[in-house]
Amino acid sequence: MQIESNSVVTLHYTLKDNEGNIIDQSEDGSFLYLHGAMNIIPGLENALTGKAAGDEFSVKVSAAEGYGEKDPQRIQEVPKDMFDNVDEIKPGVQFHAQGPDGGAVVVTVVEVKDEAVVIDGNHALAGMDLNFAVKVVDVREASEEEITHGHVHGEHGHHH
Ligand code: ZN
Repeated sequence: MQIESNSVVTLHYTLKDNEGNIIDQSEDGSFLYLHGAMNIIPGLENALTGKAAGDEFSVKVSAAEGYGEKDPQRIQEVPKDMFDNVDEIKPGVQFHAQGPDGGAVVVTVVEVKDEAVVIDGNHALAGMDLNFAVKVVDVREASEEEITHGHVHGEHGHHH
């Protein structure tokens, strides 16, 4: 069957940046998601519509269709004494902080100054072109429960 809304898709993917470095990849082909439920980024989901098991393709997803452009307002300078209880504060260190909407966000340290630390609350892949190589492994219809929950259940899926 072809991938459409409420298909459960199993796929294998490799994600590279524009320089060809591998950023992420599925492990043993068992990445599952529910199509049409915004479980994955829009650019990749759109490219998968109409594909079937066995199809292989590459797609370049722009930042706008991926994790969004970098929001400069999410890059900010905070007083260094906020990090007194952190062992080592240096560029590249990531930690969880409370976001503006109350949810947890991952924040990355960009720069450490004498009195302040520059942190970036953007998604690590924001502002980047994403180059996916995809192989569709399996396509099945979602159960009613999966559709109601908006995600995949089962062996490799999410349980709750
Ligand atoms: Zn569920």
